[in-house]
Amino acid sequence: MTETTTLDDQDLPQTWSRRYADNLLGVFGSPQMCLVSGHGCHVTDAAGNSYLDLLGGIAVNALGYAHPAWVKAVSQQAATLAHVSNFFTTPGQLALAEKLLQLAEAPEGSAAFFCNSGTEANEAALKIVKAHHRGGRVIALEHAFHGRTLGALALTHKEIYRKPFEPLGAEVTFIPAEDPDALEAELVQGDVAGVFLEPTQGEAGVVPLSLEYLQSVRTLTRRHDALMVVDEVQCGMGRTGRWFAHQAAGITPDVMTLAKALGGGFPMGATVTFGSQITGILTPGQHGTTFGGNPLACAAALSVISTIESDDLLDHVRTIGRHLVDSITGIHPQVVEVRGSGLLLGVQLASPIAADVVTAARGAGFIINAANPSTIRLAPPYILTVQEADSFISALPGLLDAATTTQKEN
Ligand SMILES: *Cc1c(COP(=O)(O)O)cnc(C)c1O
Repeated sequence: MTETTTLDDQDLPQTWSRRYADNLLGVFGSPQMCLVSGHGCHVTDAAGNSYLDLLGGIAVNALGYAHPAWVKAVSQQAATLAHVSNFFTTPGQLALAEKLLQLAEAPEGSAAFFCNSGTEANEAALKIVKAHHRGGRVIALEHAFHGRTLGALALTHKEIYRKPFEPLGAEVTFIPAEDPDALEAELVQGDVAGVFLEPTQGEAGVVPLSLEYLQSVRTLTRRHDALMVVDEVQCGMGRTGRWFAHQAAGITPDVMTLAKALGGGFPMGATVTFGSQITGILTPGQHGTTFGGNPLACAAALSVISTIESDDLLDHVRTIGRHLVDSITGIHPQVVEVRGSGLLLGVQLASPIAADVVTAARGAGFIINAANPSTIRLAPPYILTVQEADSFISALPGLLDAATTTQKEN
C-alpha cells in the first residue's frame, strides 16, 4: 500500500503547488490554481472557490464546461469505439471531414487531415508548403504565434521561444503585417513557398488583420505561386462570430489550420486543404499520426459544431461580443481600445498592468488572461450569458483601479 493523501491535504495551496513543483516540468511556471470541476462558464478550484472563466482554457471550451451535448457525445462514443488507428476510418471521421469542408465553403477536391493540436496542424501545413516548392522559403508575420514544435516554432516570431532551438524546421522570413509591399518584395524573389498568417493574431494581443490586407495577401500569393496558409487555431471555429475568420475577407486560402475550439476541450487539430491541387501535394506515406481523427475526438468536434448550429451560437457570439466591446470601450482611463470581434477580444491598456489586472480579477472571481504586459485577452465560452458578461463589466473598473494601485506601490 502506498501512502494516500487526504482530500484536505490536496486542498492546501502549499500542498498542490509543492507537488506540482516537485513533479512537473517547469515550462509553464507556477500554476495559478488547482481546478477540480467546471459547469457552464464557471470553474471551481481545490479550495472550493468558483470563478467565471472568460478565458475558456485559452479559446478552447467553446461550449463551456460539462456541456450536456458534449458530455453525451464523448461518453457514448467512449462506450462504443474510442480509438482505431488510421488503418481504418469511422462514421464520425467521415461526417466531421464533410461538415468542416462544408462550413469552410471549400471547393470540390478539398480535404481534411486530423491531428491532436494546433502546432501539429501547422506542421502538416508546413510540410504541404515545403512539398509544394522544394527548397523554398516561408514568410510569416512579425508577432506571429504558430506553435512550439520545431516546424511551427520556426514560424513563431518571438526570439526567446525560437533562438535556443535553432536550427529549426524551415527557413522563415518575418515581415511586418499590413504591408503588402513588404510581402511583394519577398515574393518577387521567386523562392517563396508559402505565407503563414493568423487572420487575428491571438498571442500578439488579439490583433485582427484588415480584410484588405488578407485580400492583398491572397492576390499576391496567387500571382507568385506561393501558398497562403491561414492559421485559425485560435480565431476559427466560430470564435469571431463566423465559422472561420478569413471568411470575412471573402477569400479562399490554400490551407487552413484549426485546433483549440474544434474539440471543445478534447485535444484535436485539423489541416484543411482547399481544392484538388493543394490536396494532392502530400502523397500516401508523406504524413501521418496515430491518434489523429480518432472516433472520440471526432465525436467531440461533431457535438461542438452541431450545438453551435442548433443553439444559434454564432449569432450569440456576435451579439455578446459587441456588447462587451461597447461596454468596455471607455469604461476606465486605462482602457485605450478594445480589439477583435466575436468572443476573441483584446483590451489594450494604457500601461503594462495586465498581470496585476489578472491577479485582481482572480481575487474577485474572474479568470482572464494577460496576452502581453498591456493587453487583457478575453476568449470566453460561446454560451456566456449577458448577465455573466455584465458581472465582469461592472467589476472591471475596480479591477483596473486595484491594478493601477498595485503598480504604483511597486
Ligand atoms: C494556440 C495556437 C497554436 C498552437 O496550438 P497548440 O494546440 O498549443 O499546439 C498555433 N497557432 C495559433 C494561432 C494558436 O493560437
